[in-house]
Amino acid sequence: MALSGVEIFKLLPKTNCKKCGYPTCLAFAMKLAQRQASIDLCPDVSEEAKRVLGEASAPPVRPVTFGVGDRAVKMGEETVLFRHDKKFVNPCAFAVEIMDTLSEDDIAKICWQVLESEIDRVGQKLRIDAIMISNVSGDAGRFETAAKAVAANAAGVPVILSATDPRAAEAAVKPFADKKAVIYGANALNAEAMAAIAKANKASLGIAATSLDELAELTEKIKGFGVEDIVMDSGARKAKDIIEHNTLIRRAAIKKGVKSVGYPVINFMQRQDSLLEGLVASVGIAKYASIIVMSSVEKWKSLALFTLRQNIFTDPQVPMQVEQKIYNIGEPAAESPLFITTNFSLTYFIVSGEIENSKVASRLAVMDCEGLSVLTAWAAGKFTASKIAQFIQESGVEKDVPNKELIIPGYVAILSGSVEEKLPGWKITVGPREANAIPAFLRAR
Ligand code: SF4
Repeated sequence: MALSGVEIFKLLPKTNCKKCGYPTCLAFAMKLAQRQASIDLCPDVSEEAKRVLGEASAPPVRPVTFGVGDRAVKMGEETVLFRHDKKFVNPCAFAVEIMDTLSEDDIAKICWQVLESEIDRVGQKLRIDAIMISNVSGDAGRFETAAKAVAANAAGVPVILSATDPRAAEAAVKPFADKKAVIYGANALNAEAMAAIAKANKASLGIAATSLDELAELTEKIKGFGVEDIVMDSGARKAKDIIEHNTLIRRAAIKKGVKSVGYPVINFMQRQDSLLEGLVASVGIAKYASIIVMSSVEKWKSLALFTLRQNIFTDPQVPMQVEQKIYNIGEPAAESPLFITTNFSLTYFIVSGEIENSKVASRLAVMDCEGLSVLTAWAAGKFTASKIAQFIQESGVEKDVPNKELIIPGYVAILSGSVEEKLPGWKITVGPREANAIPAFLRAR
């Protein structure tokens, strides 16, 4: 549980020596409580105080990483129930299930779909993050063969191995030893053997419980076997149960400091009906899942879920914005069009994407409006004729654009006359309202 400023103050030397850069120990304690300073700044603090503060400042949901390299997935570290309180830290990972009963060709095909799933949206790379190999055959040899096929066809993709038979788990984890796999399937009967396999292969251990009570018991038991990197499944499968269990788990970990449920959650969303699967997955995204397992990779489903995940895991207190400057799209020449828009990331990426689609080299003047979209910035008085004129003049773009034509967004057509007044010698053209009309607009010119 987080300590208050006064509780932290009691642990400090109370000499007010100022070596930490703060005028008093109390002022430093308050900064520590707000997580705006590090205890290392005080050279005189005791080891005991460091230990207590370290424990108190550890995130209530333990950080767990699976996979290695640039595809590694970080989970946990969450500190709040609601994203308006503070940003959710680590976006949930999407995993697709590969059953070990599939042929090697089918396994290769799904691996290829996972590798091809990556898209670029507002400057972020979004993708299916992981593969879960399931031992549905019940055969250890077959499970091992499927694991080898995944290792060969999707090298570098983090893997979850789902099995309740320790022999099968041990056989299949070999290609992923030291690759921080998740071995999922620890239960009351196999916990000790599964914990030993996880430890030997530097894997995390996924608990397969059938209730919240059993889950809490199993995490304690597995910790007792020396495994700290744990992923939890409470057994919830229906959307209603997923919301209820995930919420109870997050609340207990964050509000009550219950350590036995302070781990990332894995949810299984597989459904025959892909639309239903996508809908249930969206529940997991919104309500605290760290890994969401699905049955298939489909572009329409991925796009919807990627977008939702991106929205839930952006910081609502920090508008996504790009740098104010003149962006070249393609290799603009003197007569190339000059557009202007605001620096809201989504606006920038959509407008620049549509200009790119048009294949007409252009300049895009992106004006700092504190990350607001065009209409919002205009309504807030940040995208006005005076400010646009000032930005264009100060940007120096005039020397590159001898025809002095500026294309403003259709949504602020009302500004065209006043911008022309403020920018003598410039011609202001009203562009489309929606970015997707830009290619046709440019073709028509
Ligand atoms: Fe207090 Fe330590 Fe800061 Fe000195 S360095 S004022 S003892 S917190």
